[in-house]
Amino acid sequence: MSLHDIQTRIAAAEKDAGRSPGSVELIAVSKVQPNERVAAVLDEGHRIFGENRVQEAAGKWPDFRERYEGIELHLIGPLQTNKTRQAFELFDTIHSVDRPKLAKTIARIAQEEGHCPGLFIQVNTGEEDQKAGILPADADAFITDCRALDLTIEGLMCIPPIDEEPSLHFSLLAKIAERNGLSGLSMGMSGDFESAIALGATHVRVGSAIFGERKHD
Ligand SMILES: *Cc1c(COP(=O)(O)O)cnc(C)c1O
Repeated sequence: MSLHDIQTRIAAAEKDAGRSPGSVELIAVSKVQPNERVAAVLDEGHRIFGENRVQEAAGKWPDFRERYEGIELHLIGPLQTNKTRQAFELFDTIHSVDRPKLAKTIARIAQEEGHCPGLFIQVNTGEEDQKAGILPADADAFITDCRALDLTIEGLMCIPPIDEEPSLHFSLLAKIAERNGLSGLSMGMSGDFESAIALGATHVRVGSAIFGERKHD
């Protein structure tokens, strides 16, 4: 697989779903990948990347931003409140707003800094103990609370349980988004992005299918 193959498959999935070309944004997930592989994808012209750890992103993206114009960086992993300000400096979009304390911290720092990254709320659609995200039953109220804090929510994000049919989780996420008037859907990874696109994904997060297998997570 390569960047080009994935772009081709995304275009085909958009077409199959009757969606307009370019309606799905490809986030190339570069976590744990060697810098040469990331640079190769940048050299191919791709500019939208995802990282799941603030610390790791801080170690490589400021340099890449100096070397390449127009990079857009997405935080797709959990955010500790004490790293929120650093996340504001590093990331254009945060996909992992998952609890009231974090929402309040983001709102406060947005006030202080006079800007705010794009925000997605992570929903724990599989209700897994080990996974971050607001529970589906609490999602509507949490979205309302975020809006009351003056946060602009772009959409919802989920990571389906590995041993379940992902499309059930994608449908659930789409349903929660729709009834709350949210248009963004961050869902779909290397193994299931086509089915996510069929169910309305606006952002797919693809790592290993572009860069190759990771040595660890
Ligand atoms: C690692 C990761 C991905 C990419 O996973 P692949 O299976 O390598 O495509 C997507 N989303 C999140 C939240 C991740 O942590």
